[in-house]
Amino acid sequence: MSDVSEPIKPVAPPSAAPPKEGDLTPEQLQQAKEWLRTHWSNGNCPFHLGRTNWIVDNSLAAAPIYHIGPGGIGGTMMIGGPMFPLAVVTCSVCGHTVFVNAILMGLVKPDASVPSSDKSDT
Ligand SMILES: [Zn+2]
Repeated sequence: MSDVSEPIKPVAPPSAAPPKEGDLTPEQLQQAKEWLRTHWSNGNCPFHLGRTNWIVDNSLAAAPIYHIGPGGIGGTMMIGGPMFPLAVVTCSVCGHTVFVNAILMGLVKPDASVPSSDKSDT
């Protein structure tokens, strides 16, 4: 899709690379776009404050879980531990990128085998 009003393309279009194992399928990409359409109230970019075409990358990102230290001082990040799966959504006009929880979008099922930090099974 070409649009002469697009001044910059700060990220490679997600379709530029062939899908790899672990990428979203075309059906999941469509599901993500539909989720955004029904949950993003006006679809406008909060950065350039205008209409845009949101690009959903076919790869998810992840944010590691941060454990706050005793007394709220400092903390640690568990490498290799559970992470939040995040859909990467980029404004095609200005490149502003937001992360959306991929579990809430229905793209990823929560892993029931991953224990929550301090609770074991009932
Ligand atoms: Zn924008």
